[in-house]
Amino acid sequence: MNPSLAMTLTLAVLLVANLLTKLWLSGRQVRHVAQHRSQVPAAFAHTISLEAHQKAADYTMAKARVGVADMGLDALTLVAWTLLGGLDLLNQVTLDSMGEGMGQQITLVVSFSLIGGLIGLPLSLFQTFGVEQRFGFNNTTPKLWVSDMLKGLLVGMVLGLPILWLVLWLMQAGGSLWWLYTWAALVVYQLFVMWIAPNVIMPLFNKFTPLEDATLKERVTALMTRSGFTAKGFFVMDGSRRSAHSNAFFTGFGAAKRVVFFDTLLAKLNGDEMEAVLAHELGHFKHRHILKMMATSFATSLAGLALLGWVSQQVWFYTGLGVMPNLNDNNSALALLLFMLVLPLFTFFVSPLSACRSRKFEFEADAYAVTNSDGKALANALLKLYQDNASTLTPDPWYVAFYYSHPPASQRLARMAA
Ligand SMILES: [Zn+2]
Repeated sequence: MNPSLAMTLTLAVLLVANLLTKLWLSGRQVRHVAQHRSQVPAAFAHTISLEAHQKAADYTMAKARVGVADMGLDALTLVAWTLLGGLDLLNQVTLDSMGEGMGQQITLVVSFSLIGGLIGLPLSLFQTFGVEQRFGFNNTTPKLWVSDMLKGLLVGMVLGLPILWLVLWLMQAGGSLWWLYTWAALVVYQLFVMWIAPNVIMPLFNKFTPLEDATLKERVTALMTRSGFTAKGFFVMDGSRRSAHSNAFFTGFGAAKRVVFFDTLLAKLNGDEMEAVLAHELGHFKHRHILKMMATSFATSLAGLALLGWVSQQVWFYTGLGVMPNLNDNNSALALLLFMLVLPLFTFFVSPLSACRSRKFEFEADAYAVTNSDGKALANALLKLYQDNASTLTPDPWYVAFYYSHPPASQRLARMAA
């Protein structure tokens, strides 16, 4: 078979396999949650009200339905960009108006991203002002939503354009090992963004005020000292500006960490529960989960770039995906975009592996918290958080295997009790 046709067929088969699997999973999730909607699971009969249980069921099903719309839109967009010739057309239009060169390459990537953003806009609006609003989670005003979008766009430009330029330049001028240099550049870039995020990027979107609760500060400092960490500061973030969902996290490198509490979390948990939640987060550090995740992500991106290095040299990669490569010039931007479009079709089928690993990390962090703080308080905090976020207690096991980065509440509480 000619390799270009083989590429087209591979795309078609993978796309159908992806769609069928995702539809099957969503169908299972909706059915499973609906079947258990009328009764709170026995283990939670005394802690969760039927009303809260049903709200979680309805919220879960509503999110699954948005997910189905999203996957349909994604599939259509992918076909439109590739086999229906969308990317080829965009490439021709930018070539005709700008000629060959770096300017055209960058314009191609930027306009592709903007069009993709526009296509996803209605669903994202519906997610925030439809679903989240209906279940009482949304605090975002339309004005804040627009300002977030514009700021996001600006940050994306300021941070994204230099690295895009560098990657395209390396692809062109880096010789046969360009993918290796590009990988090194991307690793450095990612560490740089992580480094500036807490002080430069996050304050653009949220206000961080020093934590005033002296008792809580003392408790948390004691916990951190016990666990071998020093805190560089405690902050409260105005998460309630956008959403009623709550969280707590650490930022910063090395032993000195900033601790950030969502104001929504402070409002819901008492001192014991707060300490237990932070002990869980410290468990992630003690077990080096973040480092392990980063190592995996760096290793897979190296493999991905090596693969891109090879396919970008094959004419069938372009023609099989509906694009006519520029035969005399470089096709870096086209190769990059096609690769990013097609890659998720492959990686979807290994996503249960990374989700499983992430759930294992959560169990380890829970175990750490139970040993180093109050296990009962952690259980209470988890129940409150699952309830406040309307997470279902009865998800479908297959859906969990593919999508859940955190184990369902029932499993976490059972492990902690044991
Ligand atoms: Zn965790």
